[in-house]
Amino acid sequence: MKGETMTTTDAPTASDEMESLAAQLRMPYTLTPGWATGIFLAELGRHRLIGSRHGDTISVPAQDFSGTSGEPTEGLVEVAPVGALQGFTTTADGTLGLVLIDGTDIPMIHRLLDFDSETLQIGARVEAVWSDKPVGSMLDLAGFALASSSESFSPRAVPGDLLPPVLQVDYSMTLDYQHAYGPYYGTLFNAVKYDRRLRGVTCTKCARVLLPPRAMCDVCFAPTSQWVDIDAVGTVQASSIVHIEFIGQRMKPPYVYSEIVLDGTSTRLIHMIGDVDAEDAKTAATPGARVRAVWSDRRTGSLTDIDYFKLIP
Ligand SMILES: [Zn+2]
Repeated sequence: MKGETMTTTDAPTASDEMESLAAQLRMPYTLTPGWATGIFLAELGRHRLIGSRHGDTISVPAQDFSGTSGEPTEGLVEVAPVGALQGFTTTADGTLGLVLIDGTDIPMIHRLLDFDSETLQIGARVEAVWSDKPVGSMLDLAGFALASSSESFSPRAVPGDLLPPVLQVDYSMTLDYQHAYGPYYGTLFNAVKYDRRLRGVTCTKCARVLLPPRAMCDVCFAPTSQWVDIDAVGTVQASSIVHIEFIGQRMKPPYVYSEIVLDGTSTRLIHMIGDVDAEDAKTAATPGARVRAVWSDRRTGSLTDIDYFKLIP
């Protein structure tokens, strides 16, 4: 086993480890709403609420299939854009309400606008507030505000000039979060960030060296103990050449993705092999090939601090 071995008294403490990493999950996608919801979205721009009939129930927004019974719709109806508040919750970004539109059976969730949450009451009559600039999305209905009258309405037949359905809505969901490292990952990524070295930990029973380090061995479930410094040099076990582009890639395809066993470790690290032509990689990045990490100029305290592994001739 290579590297300096330390005793258990060198267990990590909170003061010398990275505690977390700011991370982001981004998922742009396109929503295909289907026929009924597509018409519902299109008609919002004309300040109309379109629902769907499924047996004895009416759903708004209109659905191709009932969300409760699964029944296909028997047809569309127009409902008045007024209803009663069934519930609400206040968040840092505003108040959300469950609104039961007159004549429908399933409440819809949407923003409540211009409300004083102190005086808000279940059962309050509300009416739609429309966006000034419709774009073919749910937010063409900006939300609901207190109704100016208490009059209630029944659903009626849809008008004859319904717009064609919106076929596709572009969405992007972004989640910002903190990845809490804990003491083991924290110690590894502290060493990666500041010292440009890797650290693993040894199982007390089977003596495997685990990278990333963890509290328990995932083969024999015994606790781990000794920390081991690991050189960022290893041997390729398997490789794939990636040709498909997808979101989140750090290299432009084609590139080589490999399982690498670093010297002295018992685990496989998944990383990229760079600085090699994809065609040449078919014969060069094969099992047994030796590779060395190329460290990045950026210091983030994650495995992306290694730009890629480079083949050792
Ligand atoms: Zn073990």
